[in-house]
Amino acid sequence: MARYTGPSCRLCRREGQKLYLKGERCYSDKCAISRRGYAPGQHGQARKKLSNYGLQLREKQKAKRFYGLIETQFRTYFEKAEKMPGITGENLLRILETRLDNVVYRMGFAASRKEARQLVTHGHFTVNGKKVDIPSYLVSVGDVIKVKEKSVSSPKFKGIAEEAKTVPNWVEVSAENLEGKVVSLPTREDIDIPIAEHLIVELYSR
Ligand code: SF4
Repeated sequence: MARYTGPSCRLCRREGQKLYLKGERCYSDKCAISRRGYAPGQHGQARKKLSNYGLQLREKQKAKRFYGLIETQFRTYFEKAEKMPGITGENLLRILETRLDNVVYRMGFAASRKEARQLVTHGHFTVNGKKVDIPSYLVSVGDVIKVKEKSVSSPKFKGIAEEAKTVPNWVEVSAENLEGKVVSLPTREDIDIPIAEHLIVELYSR
């Protein structure tokens, strides 16, 4: 299955909420959700009552879209989460959060997860001193993520040191050194995305 390459804002409109897929634009009044906060398509403005299955499906689609994943990847993460001790839904979110592209975004080195994925793929980051260009790489506690020496002068990273971004408390960031450390794994409270993960578990348990 190919990755979705259509308009990002369409995905937010489909889910009826901001998924923050476009960086700064998402915080401006140009955001499509502020302008046309209804689903795309001919029947987008029609009121629809969703079945239980519909609710579960929408929640799963929303989570997939937040993290920019395709179905097979998402399903693989779910299966991994199921095998881990603890609550499956929380395990799933924790795995998604610890993807390298998400961590780069959370540390404030990219404006969106999509941009973070591109920066990682282009080899701009090291993990514990070694170049890692795999966005799905899962970080562990203690890992140090750093912009590669050669990439420090790239315009992509200009201004990061001056812009103090709020980062989640499971990472520590030194913006001036363009590096960050994973100090703990995120708990459910640390993950601020509005997902009812139990609906995803119900969907896959059908
Ligand atoms: Fe979604 Fe951002 Fe587009 Fe708004 S601007 S609809 S949050 S991708």
